[in-house]
Amino acid sequence: MFLSASHICGQMDTVLRSATGTACLVPSAMADYRRVFQPGGMFFFTVVTERRRSLLLGLSARRCLHAAIRQVQTQHPFEITAIVLLPDHLHCIWKLPEGDSDFSMRWARIKMLFSKKWLANSGSEVVVSPSRRSHRERGVWQKRFWEHTIRDEDDMIHHVNYIHYNPVKHGLARCPHAWPHSSFHRWVRQGYYSEDWLCHCDEQADIPPNCFPPSACGE
Ligand SMILES: [Zn+2]
Repeated sequence: MFLSASHICGQMDTVLRSATGTACLVPSAMADYRRVFQPGGMFFFTVVTERRRSLLLGLSARRCLHAAIRQVQTQHPFEITAIVLLPDHLHCIWKLPEGDSDFSMRWARIKMLFSKKWLANSGSEVVVSPSRRSHRERGVWQKRFWEHTIRDEDDMIHHVNYIHYNPVKHGLARCPHAWPHSSFHRWVRQGYYSEDWLCHCDEQADIPPNCFPPSACGE
């Protein structure tokens, strides 16, 4: 089924649209989410740095993260459907191979590889408890991460929108297009969003905070 533009906008930004009058423009002919959605194998994650240190946006950190993800993907494949990097956390949606839902192992390896590369490139860590130290954990990432299994297409769209709007929610960018560290630009190229989705470049009005309820997003 093709989803209409209004369907894609979905319940999540109804509040926003009514508050700001912003239209959600998506070329519906191209927005075929069947290619994106995979029942049972999609997960939303929130992963946070230890003590919420702001370290993820530097060039070195981004390179380390990219390399760590690539390295894990070669041995344990998964696709990144959508992602956003913020200074102290990231949100992403993964698609795992059929019959394989071991995202915990993948995250453990990504965090371990990142920490190793990051510390080798003059990154710093904070002190962790002796028990965590005895498990060879470094003080770079929080031990836990938030996971949510994507239920259906609507749930996927909700979380993809949540990811791409997140820099605006945190007051880091005025519009989704203004944030370089997300998959928004790829989604625009693929025709799922227009470049000016929830854009406020031409408006004086401030976007009300928390208009995207982070109910399932663990922060
Ligand atoms: Zn804008």
